[in-house]
Amino acid sequence: MRILLILLALAASLAPRAMAQTLPDLGDGAGGILPPMVERKIGESIVREIRQRDPAYLDDPEIADYLNDLGSRLAAAIPGGRQDFEFIVIRDNSINAFALPGGFIGTHTGLLLASESESEVASVLAHEMAHVTQRHIARMLGVQQQAQLPAMIAMAAALLLGSSRPDLAQAAAMAAQGAVVQTQLGYSRDYEREADRIGFQTLSSAGFDTHAMATFFEKMQRYTRIADDGTVPGYLRTHPVTTERIADAQARAANRPYRQHLDASEYHLVRAKLRAEAGEPRDAVTHFGAAVRDRRFANEPAAGYGLVIALLRAKQPREAAARLERLRASGVDSPMLVSLTARVRQGLGDAAGALAVLKDGAARWPHRRAITYAYAKALDEAGRHEDALAHLGAQLRLYPRDPALHELKAKAYAGLGKRLQQHQAQAEVYLLRGSLPAAIEQLQLAQSAGDGNFYELSAVDARLKELRTEHARELKESRKR
Ligand SMILES: [Zn+2]
Repeated sequence: MRILLILLALAASLAPRAMAQTLPDLGDGAGGILPPMVERKIGESIVREIRQRDPAYLDDPEIADYLNDLGSRLAAAIPGGRQDFEFIVIRDNSINAFALPGGFIGTHTGLLLASESESEVASVLAHEMAHVTQRHIARMLGVQQQAQLPAMIAMAAALLLGSSRPDLAQAAAMAAQGAVVQTQLGYSRDYEREADRIGFQTLSSAGFDTHAMATFFEKMQRYTRIADDGTVPGYLRTHPVTTERIADAQARAANRPYRQHLDASEYHLVRAKLRAEAGEPRDAVTHFGAAVRDRRFANEPAAGYGLVIALLRAKQPREAAARLERLRASGVDSPMLVSLTARVRQGLGDAAGALAVLKDGAARWPHRRAITYAYAKALDEAGRHEDALAHLGAQLRLYPRDPALHELKAKAYAGLGKRLQQHQAQAEVYLLRGSLPAAIEQLQLAQSAGDGNFYELSAVDARLKELRTEHARELKESRKR
């Protein structure tokens, strides 16, 4: 539960020039609070770097959709909350979550796996969201002198990288200045207390079990003790879950009537998916097979779901199909089952069956990205490029800033041999992923493709003009610094 300023260091070490261009001007940094627009832009550039370069970034739309759904239930309970939140998942076994500037919240897979209820996960997310709404990060960045920023960023990177990347973390830690570290920890204790208090209110207003916060703090404390062999991530060593924090959370919960919270079925499915997709396929089959056979599970459908995934990974599609039938017969209903059913049909070599399942699923759950992507991909693979484009067009009206949709669109145009439109769509992919020069290059390729009509060419020309203007503005700004 660190305030995480960062990854900037990681990003900067990998691509200093690119970062200098994409980072907005931080202003004079003389004791102010970072303006929200600037904070959001910093957050966007960090998240872009994580998505593109951090091998631990988990690109799983089902899990991200679940967390975004959980997060929006919490966000709706924040009084006067107009902050946009976006949740990303990091494949890391430590129990952790972090807030980035601008409302981006990262969740470690270890946190989801160690939790025993949705309310426990919600209690950590609510705490991180409070860091954002209370503008803790904006204040911390705002009070820094520009000269101190690199050291602070390095320190934060060391905390973030922690045990998963000891080599990089150590280098970053050495780069950090002791004095800066001291100041930061001083801030953090006050901020931690405030985030606990506000986070608790959010948890309660959103209807979660308020005892979960103290329960989960205790779990984290135990985890810190058990892992106390040098493998504890830097964050937990410097920001211990203190007895005081646990006592405060317990006292707050004691003042509220007990309220049972029914966990969403996807909470269980997401955890089973993480477990089933980790490690060797054979081991996953053994684990879930035993859980189902001996009835050792917290949630029966989730155990069956995990077994199907494990069997698919172990290349046993027929066993997976049989297990899936039993799961569906038990009456579970979730969009995650649609994707799984399609995967099973594909595993059996039944592309048409998979397509039919995805078509129904896309009509029933138009906002589920995993289904949308899989459906577009299946249409494209079946040679139905026009149908893929129609589906993607409808989705892009809902989510114009989703680079994955533009990428699928570029692929469908490539399938049709329409080069102008292929490059035009690819330009939007690069633009949304933060690479303006690559986007401009794609539009130039679109211009010279020679297969567009007058209107298509005019659209490309207009877009190219916009992006060139934007590029010139960015270059001018980066030269000012
Ligand atoms: Zn915190």
